[in-house]
Amino acid sequence: MADNKKVRVRFAPSPTGHLHVGNSRVAIFNWLYARHNNGTYLLRVEDTDVQRSTKEYLDSQLSSLEWLGLDSDEPVLYQMTRIDEHKKIIKELVAKNLAYPCFCDPEELDKKRAECRQAGKTYKYDGTCRKLKYTEDDCKKPYAIRYKVPEDCKFVEFKDLVRGKVRVDSEHLDDFIIMRRDGIPTYNFVVVVDDIYMKISHVIRGEDHISNTHKQILIYNALGAGLPKFAHLPMILGPAGNRLSKRDSAVSVREYREQGFLSDALCNYLVRLGWSHGDQEIFTRDEMIKFFDFDHVGKKGAIFDIKKLEWLNGVYLRQKNFDELLVAIKDLGNDYYQQIQELWNTDQLTFLFDQYKQRATRLLDMIHDIISLAHDPKVLNLDLIKKWNSPKTPELLKMFLDEFEKLEEKDFSHDILIGLAKSVCEKLELKLVVLAQPLRLALTGKIFSPGVFDLIKALGKEKTIKRVKLLIDEL
Ligand code: GLU
Repeated sequence: MADNKKVRVRFAPSPTGHLHVGNSRVAIFNWLYARHNNGTYLLRVEDTDVQRSTKEYLDSQLSSLEWLGLDSDEPVLYQMTRIDEHKKIIKELVAKNLAYPCFCDPEELDKKRAECRQAGKTYKYDGTCRKLKYTEDDCKKPYAIRYKVPEDCKFVEFKDLVRGKVRVDSEHLDDFIIMRRDGIPTYNFVVVVDDIYMKISHVIRGEDHISNTHKQILIYNALGAGLPKFAHLPMILGPAGNRLSKRDSAVSVREYREQGFLSDALCNYLVRLGWSHGDQEIFTRDEMIKFFDFDHVGKKGAIFDIKKLEWLNGVYLRQKNFDELLVAIKDLGNDYYQQIQELWNTDQLTFLFDQYKQRATRLLDMIHDIISLAHDPKVLNLDLIKKWNSPKTPELLKMFLDEFEKLEEKDFSHDILIGLAKSVCEKLELKLVVLAQPLRLALTGKIFSPGVFDLIKALGKEKTIKRVKLLIDEL
């Protein structure tokens, strides 16, 4: 349990894109930490970048969070609604001489920054306006507001719950901007004002914000507020060790949802990515809540492994019963739910779900397979059965059909069908696979599928005969 005051955490996304899996992991860790400590998990929408924030992205992010089961315990706070308060506090800081207007021309500053970069030096504001005596008339010109780093500040240090001690020496600090020329307060300022307002006890976020933390600590000091605890989570990396990008794989939660990953599987995968509890891979939500701590969050970035996510999704799919799978299919959108109901009756679907989920990784692929099974294969690619195809194959298939036609559909069972197939193969002294693979191709157009004799049971007599004959014609 966290030692001090009551745990209040927040996830603070900017609605400038769909929810990134990396960000969703930040949300999950916040949520888990809150639940583990009987604390409060909050959502703050950082919508002050009005140019890039859109309603579409906001709705998409809220829907992804809801899908992951990460609803805010209190009403969502929209940062833009507090902008007057932010500006008021900036004015107070200027009045107290803790911040000052900066009239420097942004183009000039950009030039100096570029010069520094070229010379391989870190840019620092030279403090031109720090000691400037300015009049009310000066303030009619455009200006930004800068925070005044105290002269006696030698370094800023904090203890990160993941990374341990982090220190920034004053030579790396400069008077940073807290309000831009367009009158919009900057992220580093508003984040602190709002974290204080929301009584946030722990700031848990991505490691990309670690370099902002010292600035934010200076603002806490200027506002006379106590510091929260900080935990910076390592980034999710692509296979080459770079930050996970669209080039590596899908990056938004929405895309994973659309491909038929289940929210519990994605959540489980993301939690394990960078956090461990012994060798355990599969966690219920309750277990995650019980075991979660920062001591077992790794410091290094974690590589996103789609194969592992697929495996985990398969595990979760296999745990779902018929009704739960139907709910998940409805969630896939489009008209998959209607389509499968029209193509198959409930008994058939129950059987097919049981068969297909055994080897499924993505629900969408499984549904595509179940839908396509209802139709005769459009193409029969004989190359796929090259290994098993021989001059005897048509005869083998015909012999199978002759016997098969004598069976009554009500007697179809895996044992009876496989017994029939084996006896036909024995007659021609062939192995069962030599019949099974062409049959599979005939029924599904593929050579990977659930057991072929189970598929025959699902398809029934008429469709099976028709499809096998189609293959015989092609051979
Ligand atoms: N809006 C910031 C982001 O999306 C939040 C940073 C923070 O949690 O302080 O990265």
